[in-house]
Amino acid sequence: MAISSFNPPVRTLMGPGPSDVHPRVSAAMARPTIGHLDPAFTGMMEDVKTLLQYTLRTSNEMTLPVSAPGSAGMEMCFVNLVEPGDKVIVCQNGVFGGRMKENVERCGGVAVMVEDAWGEAVDPNKLEETLKANPDARVVAFVHAETSTGAQSDAKTLTALAHQYDCLSIVDAVTSLAGTPVLVDEWGIDALYSGSQKCLSCAPGLSPVTFSDRAVERITARKSPVQSWFLDVSLVMGYWGNGTKRSYHHTAPVNALYGLHEALVMLREEGLEQAWVRHTKNHLALRAGIEAMGLSFLVKEEDRLPQLNAVLLPDGVDEAAVRQRLLNEYDLEIGAGLGVLAGKIWRIGLMGYASNTKNVLYCLGALDAVLSDMQAAITQGVAVSAAQSAVG
Ligand SMILES: *Cc1c(COP(=O)(O)O)cnc(C)c1O
Repeated sequence: MAISSFNPPVRTLMGPGPSDVHPRVSAAMARPTIGHLDPAFTGMMEDVKTLLQYTLRTSNEMTLPVSAPGSAGMEMCFVNLVEPGDKVIVCQNGVFGGRMKENVERCGGVAVMVEDAWGEAVDPNKLEETLKANPDARVVAFVHAETSTGAQSDAKTLTALAHQYDCLSIVDAVTSLAGTPVLVDEWGIDALYSGSQKCLSCAPGLSPVTFSDRAVERITARKSPVQSWFLDVSLVMGYWGNGTKRSYHHTAPVNALYGLHEALVMLREEGLEQAWVRHTKNHLALRAGIEAMGLSFLVKEEDRLPQLNAVLLPDGVDEAAVRQRLLNEYDLEIGAGLGVLAGKIWRIGLMGYASNTKNVLYCLGALDAVLSDMQAAITQGVAVSAAQSAVG
C-alpha cells in the first residue's frame, strides 16, 4: 500500500468555486520557481499590481494579492480597519455576511446587523435607517455578490450611503470580480477583497485586496496596533509597496503568483467589459435551458448573478444524489445549497474560464439525462436546444 503520486480526476467545475483553471494559468504555475526577491520576480510583481488595478478599476496604490485565500483578504480588511470598540454595520443576506460579523467581533468591534432574506439583495433603505440610528458607526460592510444565494447587491448605492453617514465601506467582491462590474474608484469603495478561484480563472489561494487613500488614512491613525502581524497592511506593503527596496515580510507563493499574473494577462487580452458580457450571455443561455425544463431561479431577475445560478429543485428530488451522479458519471461538479437553502437549491457556477457555451450545454445535457432517469418532474429533452436557441 505504497502512497504514490496523486493524479486528480479531470472535472468540469461549475459549482460556487473553485472554477475551472485555464490551461495557460496551469502552465504558468508549472514554470521554474525563483527567489521572491529576485529582480526578475519583483518585476512580475509590479505587473500583477498594475493588472489588479486594471481589473479593480482603481488607481489605489495599496492594491495587492494577499498570499492566502479570499477569507484572508476578508480578514485583512477587517483587522486593519476595525479597532476595539468600533461600531460596524454589517449587511447580511447569506453566509458570507455572517463571517463579516465574526470578523468584526474578533477585532473587538461591535457589529450592528442589517438583515435581508437569503436570495434577496441588501435593502439600501434598511441600511439608511440603521445608519441614522447609529451615528457613531465607523464602517459599513456588505457582500457584493452573495455566492451562497446568487444575489447581487447594489454596491454603488450602499457605498454612497456609507459615505453620506461618514463611514468607510468594506466590500466582499470575491465572486463578483471579473464576472460583473466592480468599479472601485467610481463607486468610492474604501476596502475590497476578492479571490483568485472564482471569475479570475485562476487556482485558489490568493486574495486581491485594495484600500483607498481614505482607508489608508484611517489605518495610519489607528490608536492600537493591528492584532494580526501577517495581515498588517503597513508591514505587507514593505514587500508589495512600490519602489526598488523590497524587504522580506513572508515568502511570496511564487508559482501561485505566476498563475494570477497569467490569469490577469488573459483577462486584459479579452477585455474586462467583454468578460462581463460573456458571463451575462452564458447565464442567459443556461437560464433558457433551466426554464425550458420547467425549473426556476431563487433570485428575482434583476438581482441575479450571471456567474452563480441558484436553481430551485424540482419536487421530490434527492438533490445530493443528483450531484453525486453528475460527478460520478459526467465529472461535473455543481454546488449544493447552504444553511437555510440546503436541500432547496443547486448552485450552478459559470465563473471565469468555466463560463462558456460548451459548459452550459454540457451541464444542461447532463442534468436533463440524470433528472429524466430519476423520473423527476421536469420537461425532458428540451433544455439543450432551448439554450442553443438562446445562444443564437
Ligand atoms: C468564496 C467566497 C469567500 C471565501 O473565499 P475563500 O477563497 O474560500 O477563502 C468569501 N466571500 C464570498 C462571497 C465567496 O464567494
